[in-house]
Amino acid sequence: MKALVYHGPGKKSWEDVPDPTILKPTDVIVKIDATTICGTDLHILKGDVPAVEVGRILGHEGVGTITEIGDAVASLVVGDRVIVSAVTACGRCIYCKDGVYSHCQADEGASGIGWILGHLIDGTQAEYVRVPFAETSVHKLPEGVSDAEGLLLSDILPTGHEIGVQYGRVKPGDVVAVIGAGPVGLAAMLTAGLYGPSRIIAIDLDANRVAEATKFGATDGDWKEQVLALTDGLGVDVAIEAVGIPQTFTMCLDIVRPAGTVANVGVHGTGVDLPLDTLWISNIVITMGLINANTTDMLLKMVASKKLDATPFVSHTFALDDILDAYDVFERAAETKALKVVLNA
Ligand SMILES: [Zn+2]
Ligand SMILES: [Zn+2]
Repeated sequence: MKALVYHGPGKKSWEDVPDPTILKPTDVIVKIDATTICGTDLHILKGDVPAVEVGRILGHEGVGTITEIGDAVASLVVGDRVIVSAVTACGRCIYCKDGVYSHCQADEGASGIGWILGHLIDGTQAEYVRVPFAETSVHKLPEGVSDAEGLLLSDILPTGHEIGVQYGRVKPGDVVAVIGAGPVGLAAMLTAGLYGPSRIIAIDLDANRVAEATKFGATDGDWKEQVLALTDGLGVDVAIEAVGIPQTFTMCLDIVRPAGTVANVGVHGTGVDLPLDTLWISNIVITMGLINANTTDMLLKMVASKKLDATPFVSHTFALDDILDAYDVFERAAETKALKVVLNA
């Protein structure tokens, strides 16, 4: 089959590799119908994620059709259309039993992390993928949900919802600011709407992304003074960080009101100074984490019933064979206005 293979920092190729096979009785093989590129893949290609070995097939988001099942798989059959989740969960370890699937301790890579596809094992940017612990990791796609909609449920919608909105404790009437109007920030804005905030403010250094964010229920916001003006000088109830650089994290601290919440969603490549000398008295909560995918099925129901419109996330569509062109467009998002690029097999 063909797959997108990582060859060390800055190097990748779309090349012939052996087809995946069932290695454990709990595995399934999925023929990829649609996949996409995540900001995390760009971090890997920069060399920011050293756990990714040379030769690894990238990608942790996908929708496909099961072509083969392991002997222990009872609730899935060949031909099922499924969402391949960014998080693989064994369902049995101490963290899975606590619902913290993001830290599944299953033995694939033995890292204690639920994100293994395109990280510690071969991923979804390929014609086929092996999915371990399939029964507790994939989500069957109902009729009427498109591949592109399903694809957004692999990672960005549940990540924005769980790590941004739920960890941020968004509640009715809240003023929510989302810093970073890329796909995950937009997912936080869209799903924040489920909780009845009085206002959602989009903040981004890229004006096009702020304009796009208004489609997801956000008001056009700008900088600290404007944000404070929108909140009678008090600051926002919830500040969601969806960029992953020190500057944007600090911006969250600057605009959150006392007793508010800063929910970090961004993937950080460097440390951030935490000014505890001023923050200790602020009663704020700071949260962070990796998607658990425990709300994927709920979000899938909302998408299937058209209560959540995921379609505006898709900015570009390519054939899977043209994945290198898709990477080029996604890497130059400021110019190309790329949000999610969908690759159809
Ligand atoms: Zn992702
Ligand atoms: Zn587990």
